[in-house]
Amino acid sequence: MAAAAITMNINTNRTTMGETLRIAVQSKGRLNEDTMRLLEETGIRISTSKRTLLVAASNFPLEILFLRDDDIPGTVADGTADIGVVGLNELEEQGVDAEIVEKLGFGACRLSIAVPKQMEYKDITSLQGRRIATSYPTILRRYLKQRGVQADIHVISGSVEISTGIGLADAIFDIVSSGSTLVSNNLREEDVVLSSEAVLIAHRGLSEEKRGVMEELLFRIRAVMGAANKKYVLMNAPRESLDVILNVLPGIKSPTVMPLAQEGWCSIHTVLDEKCFWKIIGRLKEAGAQGILVLPIESMIL
Ligand code: ATP
Ligand code: MG
Repeated sequence: MAAAAITMNINTNRTTMGETLRIAVQSKGRLNEDTMRLLEETGIRISTSKRTLLVAASNFPLEILFLRDDDIPGTVADGTADIGVVGLNELEEQGVDAEIVEKLGFGACRLSIAVPKQMEYKDITSLQGRRIATSYPTILRRYLKQRGVQADIHVISGSVEISTGIGLADAIFDIVSSGSTLVSNNLREEDVVLSSEAVLIAHRGLSEEKRGVMEELLFRIRAVMGAANKKYVLMNAPRESLDVILNVLPGIKSPTVMPLAQEGWCSIHTVLDEKCFWKIIGRLKEAGAQGILVLPIESMIL
């Protein structure tokens, strides 16, 4: 009923620009901020003051449709939205047909079986004939079937982690990220059934024109993701230390080396993984590097 109402409203609002791509984004919740930041980092300007259901970008043929994450897979599958950002867990649970275009590297979590700490658990067959509480019945049912286990699936929409404590179920199947919720409810994580992260999904029947716009967006997204955690590093060093420094630097490609006005000195520029940089800084200084500058990179096109 709710989904049908959404479809009707949106279709009457559709723009006449055939090539405008419509992306479904979670309106609020765990994926909203990272998704909006990613779009912003691709240089796409979206008015955030006007938080209506549908917002058009001002400098790219894209419009954002804000929805609950439950509605995103279906909306993309039926073409009401052309593409969408949603957790792989939600996509799998809905079981609808949409193309997974790119893993986006945020919203990491997993769907796991967890049991009370004191319970003996060998493998999933230990739950034969038991009650399992979950908000993900489709994925759980498939997993149990694959393993030949019959259990009583109890579907609840939230607070799954308290189910065993209140006697509603013998085990749970739920989203885990740090695991702290499980620990505070005296639960122990056992089988990891699905590793999830946010994914960009696309309608299977996109027109060529829209696919072209999506490819342009994807190109920018990949450039932003490629630059994540990368730094542009500059340093000055005596020319005689150059070989040692170049050996220490695991740059993307060969670093740029430029002479300085001061005789016998040069400037070295390279791109480094942030983590790697902190590991090698001591060795760079030891080798004679000075005035080391570390700068952020907005995007990187390889
Ligand atoms: P909505 O109101 O849009 O239906 P929701 O409450 O169903 O939101 P959120 O809790 O905002 O959903 O989570 C959205 C997605 O974030 C999850 O489907 C999952 O892919 C991802 N995620 C990452 N870490 C966690 C976590 N610790 N708990 C729940 N979801 C997480
Ligand atoms: Mg939801």
